[in-house]
Amino acid sequence: MIPAPEFASFSPPRRILMGPGPSDVYPEVLAAQAKPTLGHLDPLFIGMMDELRSLLQYAFQTENPMTLAVSAPGSAGMETCFVNLLEPGDTVLVCRNGVFGERMRQNVERCGATAIVLDFPWGEPVDPAKVEAALQQHPEVHFLAFVHAETSTGALSDAQALCTLAQRYDCLSIVDAVTSLGGVELLVDAWGIDAIYSGSQKCLSCVPGLSPVSFSPRAVARMQNRSRPVQSWFLDQSLVMGYWSGEGKRSYHHTAPVNALYALHESLRLLAKEGLEQAWQRHAVMHQELKAGLEALGLSFVVDEAHRLPQLNSIWIPAGVNDAEVRSRLLQDYNLEIGAGLGDLAGKAWRIGLMGYGAKRENIVLCLKALEQVLTR
Ligand SMILES: *Cc1c(COP(=O)(O)O)cnc(C)c1O
Repeated sequence: MIPAPEFASFSPPRRILMGPGPSDVYPEVLAAQAKPTLGHLDPLFIGMMDELRSLLQYAFQTENPMTLAVSAPGSAGMETCFVNLLEPGDTVLVCRNGVFGERMRQNVERCGATAIVLDFPWGEPVDPAKVEAALQQHPEVHFLAFVHAETSTGALSDAQALCTLAQRYDCLSIVDAVTSLGGVELLVDAWGIDAIYSGSQKCLSCVPGLSPVSFSPRAVARMQNRSRPVQSWFLDQSLVMGYWSGEGKRSYHHTAPVNALYALHESLRLLAKEGLEQAWQRHAVMHQELKAGLEALGLSFVVDEAHRLPQLNSIWIPAGVNDAEVRSRLLQDYNLEIGAGLGDLAGKAWRIGLMGYGAKRENIVLCLKALEQVLTR
């Protein structure tokens, strides 16, 4: 027998999460998750899921019936979009201006499809003119994939312009909205987005582990006309939808993460109560306050003002400052987490998140004070 380990219950401290996600979770959301677990086919739970779908449709601003939360984090939402839409032989134009565009390319290739990659400098948005030129040059392309809010750099791309191009060139658009949903304007139907995925732990300020997704009727038609089954059983939407929308007779697919879905319901309810436009506005205002304070400390932004994400502020690490040392002081002495640089920006930038519940004045005041004290030491 292996002896039984004896541990105390895990008691995490209360940190202030100002990194690239997870963000600070609303107390109401944590409380919702602690409510009694119901059976995943319990009629009361199914009623909650119907409300959850309406709340997701509101957050995405869509009437797409195929709107749901994948039972896994944002990366699984990404994979859900690619595995359901692509088949070997398809060609996808992938825009890459950071870490997550590169992950899209890897997904395309793992589906046996071909990725044509269009690169943009890190910290810059995707340029619609270059995308249009590539679409003209490659008539074999039937999908356009891009990241709306690049969390690795803090750059916002013009999703509306890119989706308009996708439609003009007869492509389905696949959009990463993991960091944009709830933080900046995003209108799935009005912009003609075909497949979109997000994450629970960024501007929705829910617990990590769920990925809201939505598919347009054009995307659904494409899935229905596949010549071969989706290679992933778990992520196959034709099977998952039997559980999410079984029209009165839902069937078991996998056990839903019941309590996590309570949490998402609560976070989206709070978003709806605040109002989407009010939430976008709050992120913008808080970003301006943080920006003024950071600039007063002599810190400068990686991304040009015109394309800057309010919810993810990348700033250059000043010369001579020890990156890891500063972040560990912030965590130990102030219970404050900020994000390290990722990929090309590793060791060169910090990423300060103002996401969802965390986009509030008291966090900004603490962050500026803490940075000032740690940097002057
Ligand atoms: C965080 C993030 C992801 C991945 O989400 P996980 O929940 O970590 O799997 C994908 N894309 C973007 C833009 C992200 O910020």
